[in-house]
Amino acid sequence: MLIPMNTQESERLFARAQELIPGGVNSPVRAFRGVGGTPRFIERGAGPYIWDADGNRYTDYVLSWGPLVLGHAPEVVLQAIAETAAKGTSYGAPTALENQLAEQVIAMVPSIEQIRFVNSGTEACMSALRLARAVTGREKIVKFSGCYHGHADMLLVQAGSGVATLGLPDSPGVPKATAASTLTLSYNDLEGAKALFAELGSEIAAVIVEPIAANMGFVTPAEGYLLGLQALCREYGTLFILDEVMTGFRVSPGGAQAYWGIDPDITCLGKVIGGGLPVGAYAGKKAIMQHVAPAGTMYQAGTLSGNPLAMAAGLATLTELQKPGVFEGIVARTTQLTEGIRAAAESANLPIQAGCIGTMFGFYLLKEEGAKITDYATAKQFVHAERYAVFFHKLLERGVYLAPSAFEAGFVSAAHTPEIIQSTLDAIQGSMREL
Ligand SMILES: *Cc1c(COP(=O)(O)O)cnc(C)c1O
Repeated sequence: MLIPMNTQESERLFARAQELIPGGVNSPVRAFRGVGGTPRFIERGAGPYIWDADGNRYTDYVLSWGPLVLGHAPEVVLQAIAETAAKGTSYGAPTALENQLAEQVIAMVPSIEQIRFVNSGTEACMSALRLARAVTGREKIVKFSGCYHGHADMLLVQAGSGVATLGLPDSPGVPKATAASTLTLSYNDLEGAKALFAELGSEIAAVIVEPIAANMGFVTPAEGYLLGLQALCREYGTLFILDEVMTGFRVSPGGAQAYWGIDPDITCLGKVIGGGLPVGAYAGKKAIMQHVAPAGTMYQAGTLSGNPLAMAAGLATLTELQKPGVFEGIVARTTQLTEGIRAAAESANLPIQAGCIGTMFGFYLLKEEGAKITDYATAKQFVHAERYAVFFHKLLERGVYLAPSAFEAGFVSAAHTPEIIQSTLDAIQGSMREL
């Protein structure tokens, strides 16, 4: 018998937070609306674990929504931050650390020749689009429904992530004129893209896509799909923007582009690149990046951009990730977890679609056997969100923390040992048997 967890302190904090902060949170999905119940207020993390304000411990597969590829509070990162902080936290002037992280990223990610650091994935995607519009002199952009590229106006059209979790319409406050230049297509539908380009191709500045659509769960690209989009862009003089905010340094050390041999014009980065501190970046071919001010005229700036603490944390994280066996070890554990989830669902007779690539995984509890999720429409149609909510809480009670939404991916870190994965799988089996 499980003894119900004491969550009094989280409940008290959440009640207070709701008076102070809209919905009690600073980013919507954290509020547990997709699964019900009270979000846990987290007090600390170490390795694969987090502890809430009531002292309950959870094995964490959210990992700050992806960034913590080494787990919580890794010594190398803490040390890098502490050493840097001792010399001051920000100067608003260039530092050698920015060069070092730039060199590291350029060495790791094949298509990148120059990079500009910003403070979030949202900023990265927003700036990448401005750059594409500046370079091409065109205004229209193409995105895919269910893909999430942050919350900039022109990208909040049929967006994934919290918008998908909460089932929201496109956000109020986005000007119609802004939304009108964002054209949306269905993910994995290359024929649809070809048809759109045949009509409007010469007006399209950029196509922006998540190489794995992981803000509507975990939808992998069909064979040849991403390279097909790239070819289409090249044919029409449209820039191809790969949003690797989530997949960067996760699908492979060189991201999804290295994994699938993609050569985007612009790459958006975030999450892992900051090692748990706020960093984003847009990067790409030098000829394109040279349009960014002050090298060129496309304006983009940031008071805290290239912040030394954030650069140090990112650099320490990527350096550690490059050590022999580190990345491969996480991949092996991600595979162990995903195969275990699939097996547990099958033995409990629960229809499931599960997958993983690199150090990312995702699974859908399906409404019916044989359903296949390939895009946003099929995700909305076939995901058994109510069953996920029950499963989520059963697991939480057993000390396993998954994303509080049926439409989010999961992550594994270097701190998740095979034994820890196995104990998670035991909890998953127990929970699934009760569904
Ligand atoms: C998280 C995410 C973003 C937004 O990044 P923030 O740092 O939350 O602004 C953009 N694109 C993708 C693919 C993401 O997963």
